[in-house]
This record gives sequence, structure tokens and C-alpha cells, in this order.
Amino acid sequence: MSEFEENIQDIESLKANSLVSTTFQNEDDEQENILRPKKLKDFQGQKQLKENLSIFIQAARERNEALDHTFLIGPPGLGKTTLASIVANEMGKEIRMTSAPALEKPKDLAGILTNISEGSIFFIDEIHRLKPALEEMLYIAMEDFEIDWVIGQGPAARTMRIPLPKFTLIGATTKAGQVSSPLHSRFGITCHLQFYNEVELSKIIKRSSSLIDCKIEDEALIRLARCSRGTPRIANRLLKRLRDFATVLADGTITNEVVDQGLTRLGIDPIGLEDQDRNILKTIINFYGGGPVGASTLSISVGEAIESLEDFYEPYLIQKGFLIRTPRGRCVTTKAYELLNIAPPSKIKDFDTSIL
Ligand code: ADP
Repeated sequence: MSEFEENIQDIESLKANSLVSTTFQNEDDEQENILRPKKLKDFQGQKQLKENLSIFIQAARERNEALDHTFLIGPPGLGKTTLASIVANEMGKEIRMTSAPALEKPKDLAGILTNISEGSIFFIDEIHRLKPALEEMLYIAMEDFEIDWVIGQGPAARTMRIPLPKFTLIGATTKAGQVSSPLHSRFGITCHLQFYNEVELSKIIKRSSSLIDCKIEDEALIRLARCSRGTPRIANRLLKRLRDFATVLADGTITNEVVDQGLTRLGIDPIGLEDQDRNILKTIINFYGGGPVGASTLSISVGEAIESLEDFYEPYLIQKGFLIRTPRGRCVTTKAYELLNIAPPSKIKDFDTSIL
């Protein structure tokens, strides 16, 4: 066996398989997988994005090429992973999935890249968390479909170029601002996912309820859609919890009464705000005079990890107009005072408009 083949074998035996998954791990994830649309036509909402993506996929298929590298940006639960597997299905290619925190060393990434097949999809979730050394390896892989592999150590070290099959990298992130511009610029297609409206969420819930064989009344469906925070993952989770309440407390159908009881027990209000959302707003008002307060201070005050504060709570509070992000920190709006039935200080109006 030549030295080249030995090194390839070495890379191939890397722990790629433990880092790459085409399946999902726990029971909830398994169920989520069942509800995942497999084709673009079943993927609700995101109209413009879907239309463009379907043209790019069709063009790549007609030219018998790999789809250009694709960057998916948006808050958690909006469908980035789902879209990646839909792209693979529509292209008729296999998909390898991993997430940046699982890739620790260059050999982890090299192991995956040297094992993927021509035209296949390589999905990296949370790509903003990729280590710099791996990012550099990815640049060359994305651009030239090669990687540089260093053999040996010290003065005897030399670099070997390993050719890779043409593949499509799909990178997903909730924090596009934290992705370096060299990496960002290597994606040929960029898709921003938006929150879903009530009609789109109603369709998602209806489809999911028939997949899990659960009856839901029309009015209950609309109310569930309204408190799903514009997010399909939350809509599906709420549906499953309310199915539990319907099974135990009623005759199995999700009715208006089941929604009333379920949401009260879960501490969710009609527009989808949870106790922690109200706690965040109250803390800013009571301890920081309505803001501005920095994210790290706020995360300690409310006992929430900064990631879930920034990725889960804040986007919805901002979208609903209760919170604004300013260069100096987070501030509540007059709408937040109204929500909490607290009289706003007289200067809040000037403050709001000066920031907006
Ligand atoms: P992300 O990767 O952005 O965190 P996922 O792709 O894991 O989100 O989506 C979470 C769940 O929401 C999936 O199981 C899927 O069933 C559902 N989902 C997401 N987007 C859509 C959509 N546009 N249409 C139907 N279901 C969706």
C-alpha cells in the first residue's frame, strides 16, 4: 500500500461516523423527524425562499452538478434542518449531518469530507461555532474541493492535498453575525428564514395532527397557531402536549376547552408568551429602569443561559414589539408596560422614539 493510500485509510478510519448522523437521537427528536416534511411542496411558508431554492435545485439537476453551497439563517425551529434534508431528497442524494460543536479537530472534519460521495449534502448546524482551524480547512474544501492534510511533525512535516468529491455544504446558523466573512462569502446561496404567520402555522399543525392521528377542532387549531411564537417546532411540541391533555382529561380530541386547560397548565398565554418572557420584561423594568441592560447582565438576572435568551426569548419579544435591542443594551417598550399592567414612566415615550 502506498503512503498516500495509507494516509487516506487513516483519515477514513477517523471517528467520522460518531460525529455524523442521518438519524435523530431521543424520542422527541425521533417524533420531530416523523413530522419533518420530506419534499419542498410539503414545506409550508417561506414562499420566496422556496421558489428560488426549487429553481436552483432544478438547474443543478439539469446540469448534473452539485447544488451550490447553501447558507440557512434563522432562529431555532424555523426549518433549517428540515430544508437541508429536503434539498437532499429533491437532489436525490444522501445527506450527512453534524453540528459545529461536535467537530473538535481537523481530523474530525477531514474524516467526514473524505467519506462523502459525489453530489451529496453535508449539513453543519450551528456553523458559527466552528473552530478557526476547521474553518480554514472548510474554505479550501468549499472552493477547490480539496483539503490540505499535514503528515508528520516538526521540520519533517509535509502537506498533502487530498481531492474531494464535489459536494454541497449546507451551513445553518441562528447567529449570522458571528460567521466570519470569508466563510460567509463562500456560500453561493443564502436563505433567511422568517417567522411563520398564523395561516402557515395552522397548516403545519393540521398536517402534523393527521400524521400523529390526533383530532383537533378548527378553533382550537387557530388558537394553537396563535401561541406558537411563529415557530413550527413550538407548534408541533404544543400539539403533542395538548394531545396528552386531550387523552387524559377529555375524549382524545383537542377542543377549545382542552386548549384553555392545557395552556393554563403550561403557563402559556394566548399570544404564546411564557412565564419567563414576562419575567424578562419585569426584570428590565424593576431592576434596570426599563433598560438599557446588557445581555450578559440580563441573563444572570433572569437565570437563563445567554444563548436561550438571545435565540429563543428575545426574537419573539422583539417581533411582538415588547423589547428592542439597542447598541447600549435591551430596553422594554411601552407595550411591555401595558402587558404587565405597570404604569410607564413619563419619559418612556421620548426614550422609545429616540431609539427607534
Ligand atoms: P431548525 O433546524 O431551524 O432548528 P427544524 O428543521 O429542526 O428547525 O424544524 C423543527 C420542526 O418543525 C421539524 O420537525 C418540522 O417538522 C417542523 N417544520 C419546520 N419548518 C417547517 C415547515 N416550513 N413546514 C412544516 N413543518 C416544518
